[in-house]
Amino acid sequence: MHDISRSTSIFERAKQVIPGGVNSPVRAFRAVGGNPLFMQRAKGPFLYDEDGHEYVDMINSWGPMILGHAHPVVEEAVKAALAFSPSFGAPTAREVEMAELICSLVPSVEKVRMVNSGTEATMSAVRVARGFTGRDKIVKMEGCYHGHGDSFLIAAGSGALTFGTPDSPGVTKGTARDTLLAPFNDLEAIEDIVEENKGQVAAIILEPVVGNMGCVAPQAGYLQGLRSLCDRHNIVLIFDEVMTGFRLAPGGAQELYGVTPDMTTLGKIIGGGLPVGAYGGRKEIMDFVSPAGPVYQAGTLSGNPLAMAAGMAMLKYLQAHPEVYQHIDRMTTTLVQGLAQQVKEAGVKATINQVGSMFTLFFTDKHVIDFETAKTVDTQKFAAYFQAMLQQGIYLAPSQYEAMFISAAIDEKLISRILDASRHALATLG
Ligand code: PMP
Repeated sequence: MHDISRSTSIFERAKQVIPGGVNSPVRAFRAVGGNPLFMQRAKGPFLYDEDGHEYVDMINSWGPMILGHAHPVVEEAVKAALAFSPSFGAPTAREVEMAELICSLVPSVEKVRMVNSGTEATMSAVRVARGFTGRDKIVKMEGCYHGHGDSFLIAAGSGALTFGTPDSPGVTKGTARDTLLAPFNDLEAIEDIVEENKGQVAAIILEPVVGNMGCVAPQAGYLQGLRSLCDRHNIVLIFDEVMTGFRLAPGGAQELYGVTPDMTTLGKIIGGGLPVGAYGGRKEIMDFVSPAGPVYQAGTLSGNPLAMAAGMAMLKYLQAHPEVYQHIDRMTTTLVQGLAQQVKEAGVKATINQVGSMFTLFFTDKHVIDFETAKTVDTQKFAAYFQAMLQQGIYLAPSQYEAMFISAAIDEKLISRILDASRHALATLG
């Protein structure tokens, strides 16, 4: 065991003044045991904790650091913006440039509003869909996570699932009644739900590729089926691309699968590591948003100059270097193929899902296609694997119900290092 005494003592202090010692639950390492590591700095593919240990980062801030940490183009852009003041609370040309870029790249987005987090984006999108349709109910998929808005903390994935609270106390019965649940990848089930609630469903919201019950891909025809269901019933189809937007392709999962929703939510990725979210969609829907229309939504720091600068720097770099997508996809495929071979050789029951540069190694022999199959994982086994990887300097997402994200800073040499560590880790599982 390496010495993590500084992290441990900071955690002890943190627990006195922050609930559970962390500002977002999954960071607490509860699902994998042991104390969380407090990070001091990061560069390229590496994280460095307070005790000075180096880790290969497999989370990349849960997605946004597509170029790796502290990339010079992002750093320079933020420095330049900072010199002009970090906030005005007034419109800036940068926001317009960001909106133009998003509208030009994301197929469903004709107009877009910036917010400060993925949670704000999904909450606002649903409000607009309700205002637009005059209906109250929404359908979400079991195991999808859309941030911590009340309407979404029902059969939620990610930390809510990890901590055994997919239905959070504090959400009123009235709110819960308006969220209908459907299993992911099951068109028949959602068709029945819509039929039973005819004329009452404002929106269907989903992660087109799920990251929050681990990585789960849509089955052939599923997204198309949802599209035509929404068309038949005048329901607003919302793709939550907080994790997949600009990662799976410049235009996100909707570009990759060729299915255009009515609205799209984006998040952390478009901030290049700074706090950002956005929601956008068809003009006629987005023109319902204040001050163009009657649906209220606002934000003091929305479109913040530093966040716009960081996000634009990263997105423009990606636009100018489309080979980044090929690189991260290829690195992920090499890693996943290596892992698949290893689990076979080690006789470990496992299944691996990959879409582009997102993947999850699930400790189950079931095909993971939805919430039910995701829940068949052996979380103890995952915890042991996680700890064994951590001891060897590989920082995985600290829960089985998460995806991992590969950055452009990962190369073949690091893939070999990850695979060597994994071979040892799997050998300790028994
Ligand atoms: N939607 C999805 C698909 C997410 O993965 C997340 C966060 N991981 C959110 C929404 C919420 O974003 P935030 O944490 O920025 O509020």
